[in-house]
Amino acid sequence: MPVKKVAEPDDAPDVGQRPQLRPGAGPLEQPLSKKVLGTAVAVLDKQLGVHTVGDLLRHYPRRYDSWATLTPLDALPVGEEATILAEVRSVAVRPMKTRRGRMVTAVVTDGEHDLDLTFFSDRGPQAKLAAGRRALFSGTVGTYQGRRQLSHPKILYTDDGKTDEGSAIARLDRPVPIYPATAQLDSAKISRCVVTQLGALGTLPDPVPADLRARYGLIGLTEAFGKIHAPQDAEDHRAARRRLRFEEAFVLQVALARRRSADGAQPATPRVPRPGGLLAAFDERLPFTLTGGQRDVGDQIATDLARTTPMHRLLQGEVGSGKTVVALRAMLAVVDAGGQAALLAPTEVLAAQHHRGIIAMLGDLAAGGMLGGDERGTRVVLLTGSQPTAARKRALLDAVSGDAGIVVGTHALLQEHVEFHDLGLVVVDEQHRFGVEQRDALRAKGRDAPHLLVMTATPIPRTVAMTVFGDLETSTLTELPAGRSPIATHVVPAAEKPGWYDRTWTRLREEIDAGHQGYVVCPRIGDDAEAAGGEGPGAADGAPFGADDAEGTPRRPLRAVVEVLEELRATPALAGLRIEPLHGRLPTDERDATMQAFARGEVDVLVATTVIEVGVDVANATAMVVLDADRFGVSQLHQLRGRVGRGSAPGLCLLVTDVLGPMPGRDRLEAVARTLDGFELARVDLEQRREGDVLGSAQHGGRSTLRLLRVLRDEKVIETARNEASALVAADPDLAAHPALAAELAAWLDEEQEAFLDKG
Ligand code: ADP
Ligand code: MG
Repeated sequence: MPVKKVAEPDDAPDVGQRPQLRPGAGPLEQPLSKKVLGTAVAVLDKQLGVHTVGDLLRHYPRRYDSWATLTPLDALPVGEEATILAEVRSVAVRPMKTRRGRMVTAVVTDGEHDLDLTFFSDRGPQAKLAAGRRALFSGTVGTYQGRRQLSHPKILYTDDGKTDEGSAIARLDRPVPIYPATAQLDSAKISRCVVTQLGALGTLPDPVPADLRARYGLIGLTEAFGKIHAPQDAEDHRAARRRLRFEEAFVLQVALARRRSADGAQPATPRVPRPGGLLAAFDERLPFTLTGGQRDVGDQIATDLARTTPMHRLLQGEVGSGKTVVALRAMLAVVDAGGQAALLAPTEVLAAQHHRGIIAMLGDLAAGGMLGGDERGTRVVLLTGSQPTAARKRALLDAVSGDAGIVVGTHALLQEHVEFHDLGLVVVDEQHRFGVEQRDALRAKGRDAPHLLVMTATPIPRTVAMTVFGDLETSTLTELPAGRSPIATHVVPAAEKPGWYDRTWTRLREEIDAGHQGYVVCPRIGDDAEAAGGEGPGAADGAPFGADDAEGTPRRPLRAVVEVLEELRATPALAGLRIEPLHGRLPTDERDATMQAFARGEVDVLVATTVIEVGVDVANATAMVVLDADRFGVSQLHQLRGRVGRGSAPGLCLLVTDVLGPMPGRDRLEAVARTLDGFELARVDLEQRREGDVLGSAQHGGRSTLRLLRVLRDEKVIETARNEASALVAADPDLAAHPALAAELAAWLDEEQEAFLDKG
């Protein structure tokens, strides 16, 4: 989808730029008019963020209330809902005895029978009750001191000249929209505003083309607004929601299809490895056979790389499924073809590890141009923000001269002064930390658009992939390399069973005595700089404390690396072990040294933050203890645990928590303990979080917010919308024949497509 132009060199050819859409200035873009809505305009604006006609019409009811059926006064069933038409006989208002405020009681009659009404407040429509007035009253029939009564019934006056009795009774069948409201603007007032606005509106241009509406039995936009806000019956608002939901999916998918199509229109240099070159040499030396999945995805990528349009591929695979090898083979193919490849990692620890790992895998193939290096080889350089200047300068030179075939780095690679001789492929590890904008910035570094391979170990359900990564083709590695052992996961309820907590450390000791290593993960660092923001989930929440529980008892501070390190070093069960800390605020060289010592087996236990979440690969590490595990997300725990399933010995993961019994946090942990299936856990994760978190940060009500669409529930809608959008964009890339769609899209993209689509 079109994004803000980023870091584009001035002389860059404009080929492949997505054509500009006509800026939207349709009826929905108009500001709300005081002439139409009066003083409500200011309140809508301030309290609900509703500025335009479109904002108002897309402020959908949260649910619908209904009136009960009309019942004669002498046949009122106690305990059930009923509506009566009656005349007020008398009203009394008096102060309440036990609380502040005044209560209103009234007696109403149908001429023969009486009924009591009770209100524990004198504010609201009951303030207008007066003897002789006629109204519909609706509520649950109760009894008080042996007399039947309605407590707090809804009231619809039928004698105010606005509503006659006939139409009031007819209205009982209609669902009453209930809106997200504010103190100054209750649901009924919002409803009146919307209805007034609807009345002042002509027929709206419809972004969903007529042939699609006909094919899928969808009502038009104007009709849909009418039916969602003022339905005659439940079928009305169902039809309206169905149509508006489709529209959300469709507009989003058109945006994605246009991005795919524009990306496809950019020229890219085909990169075909030469026979007998670097890739062939690497394959010869591989100490293992590729899995079937690795081979298939490798072939897909080879085909993509040979094209004259850039590859945009997402490679998913469980932790340890062997994505890195696949990526490396792609990079070697590009180097073989005379280009360069860049590998981006989310953290410096990971970048350094990738750098070391790649050099280790390549052996003398990584010493290209150097004495003793293989003549087919290349050079692999590391480029990070905190590198010493000299090393950094050398790496920059190697990148721009083309001497380095592979450049490994972090976000620092995105900085403008990093130049490449001929960047042919960008590999991004762990996409969930990289946004569209950053991808584009890096892409702009090639002469032509570089090919792009994004890797993620976070399994992404299909529709989420279609929605969030809709501009990427997807490949999945489903099998793990042979010889992997299962991971046993257990929840340790430390508060309920302190004995289990002690046993945790004995278990850790047993693993180490068996010749293995372990991780202890904490949500917090716990050093002086904590206030500056850490890297764990606790810190991400903005406070180093656990959430208060329901009773409001504050929880103890979350476990922190610094403190846990002390504790473990003093724990008898762990006596004599080499225990070291690892977190993002240690100096880079110290961190690197610790990582390398751990990789060499010189450190037994790493006490770490989530810096080890992605990619850290030490096959001998078999045990992981996660403290305050309930503070981590399901997918994050799954990722973390993947660190101990790397070798041939069985892994053990202990999730320590203070959360008692059946609480939401506990359910999550039990789910993680129950299954190793990342896709299932991704679903659990999605179901528990607000979808806004899944889709990005755009939950503040702008146009690009998904209002009615739910990515998990509406899989079919999204699929249909995606197919239709692709077909439409293929036939009409500029949307020339679809001006209403173009206008809607332009407005939609304007508003906050960054926030929405740029899932960082
Ligand atoms: P991922 O990046 O998907 O988490 P890696 O590529 O880091 O996984 O692979 C994990 C480990 O498995 C590495 O040590 C790697 O060398 C090894 N590996 C990769 N592919 C295979 C294979 N086909 N057979 C055996 N081991 C493999
Ligand atoms: Mg990896």
